[in-house]
This record gives sequence, structure tokens and C-alpha cells, in this order.
Amino acid sequence: MKPKNEFQDKVAVVTGSSRGIGREIALQLASRGATVVASARNPAALESLVAEIQAQDGKALAVPGDVGCSKAVEELFKIAMESFGRIDILVNNAGITRDGLLIRMKDEDWDAVLDTNLKGAFYCCRAAARIMSKQRSGRIVNISSVVGEMGNAGQANYCASKAGLIGLTKSVARELARRNVTVNAIAPGFVVTDMTDVLSDQVKEDLLSQIPLARLGEAQDIAHAVAFLVSDRSGYITGQVLGVNGGMYM
Ligand code: NAP
Repeated sequence: MKPKNEFQDKVAVVTGSSRGIGREIALQLASRGATVVASARNPAALESLVAEIQAQDGKALAVPGDVGCSKAVEELFKIAMESFGRIDILVNNAGITRDGLLIRMKDEDWDAVLDTNLKGAFYCCRAAARIMSKQRSGRIVNISSVVGEMGNAGQANYCASKAGLIGLTKSVARELARRNVTVNAIAPGFVVTDMTDVLSDQVKEDLLSQIPLARLGEAQDIAHAVAFLVSDRSGYITGQVLGVNGGMYM
């Protein structure tokens, strides 16, 4: 059951919501009554998400932008505040991969991944913290990854960014706790999206053999966990990393 008005009067900023996990998070929160401010670089995909939410009597606004750009993030939060006057929920979900073995990894592949996955979350946390501190309430969820906890050959840049998000989460959780703002991370396992679509069948088979629940994750699995962590029911949980990985890492 989805309580339709669970997040009534709550405003949620979801980065990387043009597709995949972020899109599902935006749909879930909107279906429970949140006003969603959807951001990513692709304006057309965001508009289609907004249309889908509005068709179900939900509320949403598309604000295209690159999370790796400080000015674009300031603009995102400015527009959200001008439009709705508050921000209750931030989900830092935007992320990319530029895989390669360390000895062949190019500087620009390192920088692109760290800029989007970690610096982007820093910019958004900083902007949200100013607003949520004043409100004396808020929920921040950072989407990390199981490989940020385990490491993964060929993903030094990605794993460093996702491990960095865990340190960011715990530090910001400590800074904002007295303002009644909770900050947690979700570490998904392998989830069926465009990001993992590029993996070969052999790699997918190998992955499956490492997952006790014997299936890849669905975007909904992650969205359900986000919906819990941003709800009133999770008020005594902060600075935590919730693995949603089918048991792949315990
Ligand atoms: P995806 O399908 O590739 O979607 C990534 C999203 O991030 C898109 O909406 C993309 O939109 C957005 N994005 C990328 N770069 C951006 C930028 N510079 N500024 C703003 N938005 C940007 O990936 P996904 O699988 O849904 O992954 C979502 C998150 O979960 C990522 O942080 C990923 O690392 C994490 N995760 C995924 C898995 C998995 O197995 N799929 C596992 C663990 C963690 P635009 O291209 O329109 O900008």
C-alpha cells in the first residue's frame, strides 16, 4: 500500500531523475504526495517524467542542470525555493561510470566521475543544508554503491566516488543532527538500468552467482528504501549506510 498523502506538503529534490533509479525514486515520492523537483541534464526526459507525474495528479517541476557545476546547483535550489518555499527531501542520485583499469585510467575519466558523483553531492548537500538548517527539519539520502564498500576492479574512480559519498554522509549527518536533519546513504547492489545494461551476459551471470537472493535489483527496490529513509518513520536513523543489494555484501 502506498499512503497517497504520506509526503503531502513535502518538497523533494531528486538529482539524476531523468531515467533509471532516480526516475523511479521521483515517481515513488510523487505517488506518495511529495512535490518533486526533478533534475538531470536531459530536459526532454525530465519533461516526460513531469508529465507522467502530473497525469497521476502529482506535482513536479523539471529543472535541468549538471550537478557537477556549482552554479547550476545553486540555480536548482534557488528555483526550487522560489517555486515552493521549502525543501524537505534531497536525494543525491545523479551518477556516472567511466570504467577502466587503473594503469590506463585517464585524468579526465577520474575527474568526470568524481565531479558528478561526489562533488555534485557535496554541492547539493551544502545548498540543502542551508535551507534545512533554517527549517529545523530535513532528510538527505545519498545514493552510494555496494562497490563503494567492497571495491571493484576496473572502477577505481567510481568506487572512490561512492566510498567518498559514505564519508560525506557520515560527516554531514553529524553536522546537521542538531538541526533535526538526517543524512543517510543507500548502497545499491547491481540494479537493472541503462548503467548496467552495458554489462555482458557473462558478467551478469558472474554477478548473479554472488547474490544470495539470486536476482539483480530493480529500481523499485531502491526507491522503496529511499521512501522509508525520507519518511517520518526513520527519524532516529542518521549517518547510516543501508545496503540494498540482495545480500551481495553483508
Ligand atoms: P542511469 O540509468 O545511468 O541514470 C543516471 C542518472 O544520472 C540519469 O538521470 C542522468 O541523467 C543523471 N546524471 C548523470 N550525470 C549527471 C550530471 N552531470 N548532472 C545531472 N544528472 C546527471 O544510472 P542508474 O543505474 O539509474 O544509477 C543511479 C544512481 O545509482 C547512480 O548514482 C549510480 O551510481 C547508483 N547506482 C547504480 C547501480 C546500478 O546497478 N544501476 C548500483 C549502485 C549504485 P542525464 O544523463 O539526463 O544527466
